Amino acid sequence: MKDPILYIVIPCYNEEAVLPMTSGIFLKKITGLAAAGKISDESRVLFVNDGSKDKTWQIIEELAASDAHYEGVCLSRNRGHQNALLAGLMTAKEYADVTISIDCDGQDDINAMDAMIDEYLAGVDVVYGVRSKRTTDTWFKRTTAEGFYRVMRALGADVVFNHADYRLLSRRALEGLAEFGEVNLFLRGLVPLVGYRCSSVYYERAERLAGESHYPLKKMLAFAFDGITSLSTKPLRLITAAGILVSAVSFLAIIGTIITKLFGYTVTGWTSMICAVYFLGGVQLLGIGVIGEYIGKIYSETKRRPRFIIGETTLEAKEKR
Ligand code: UDP
Ligand code: MG
Repeated sequence: MKDPILYIVIPCYNEEAVLPMTSGIFLKKITGLAAAGKISDESRVLFVNDGSKDKTWQIIEELAASDAHYEGVCLSRNRGHQNALLAGLMTAKEYADVTISIDCDGQDDINAMDAMIDEYLAGVDVVYGVRSKRTTDTWFKRTTAEGFYRVMRALGADVVFNHADYRLLSRRALEGLAEFGEVNLFLRGLVPLVGYRCSSVYYERAERLAGESHYPLKKMLAFAFDGITSLSTKPLRLITAAGILVSAVSFLAIIGTIITKLFGYTVTGWTSMICAVYFLGGVQLLGIGVIGEYIGKIYSETKRRPRFIIGETTLEAKEKR
């Protein structure tokens, strides 16, 4: 069997500070794996510039000119991490036998790739990179991130615990992923749905080498909510459950009210009335809000807007497989 062609897919958004530091590490990994005879020398490091406002694309172009192992695609504008990653994976699918996606900030241990490739060579299609410890993250980031996985699971989204977007995908897994046409992308939830043989490799997550995280708490919450609503309809069912509960309580309250009326105490009850008005108003608004989220999802899905548009690429001259 011919050695497989590996494409390392790396989304980059405003990463001029970190790219010059990490690009060499990726290249070394590719050449090292090729020298060890595990992958073909036609393997590439593929950067996806996600509409950066700084010099990121310029740096990628310079890298591509400096070494044939570097390639880059440039999106027409910023579309967010998930879309940028998908753009890279769908581009790589045309050239590669296997891809590994990783962030460009050096947080994920690149040496885990060796184990991922070994798994692939043993016939596994999907290998998840899983963080074994989060000692370098702040207490806050660790607690919120781990809480995120727990809540996701509780609400019916099947995600791999402590796995982000560091993963190996074989070509047939990529082809499976390409079948999912959804606009609201949450790759972590989609990949398990693709199926095939999967396994995990464990690594310790380090700190960002330079630059700043693009995921502050607000964006993390939005991302979590997006993930839940795109993978599960459990929140809708929770509303139904809440409705049943509130109705049951109301029924008891009605009986109580009638009994009070029979005993002639009809004037009191202002406090309980006000409480009921506010409580029911809140519950209803919450219910409408959650339903609204799903309607918003339906709205954006029915429009079928493109998930990404590739502006420039250094791959133009290359023949597809
Ligand atoms: N990223 C992207 N588009 C965006 C935001 C982030 O392509 O709109 C990339 C970013 O360059 C990095 C990866 O997504 O390679 C993860 O982002 P970051 O390291 O900021 O997130 P964190 O690791 O803090 O969760
Ligand atoms: Mg990061």
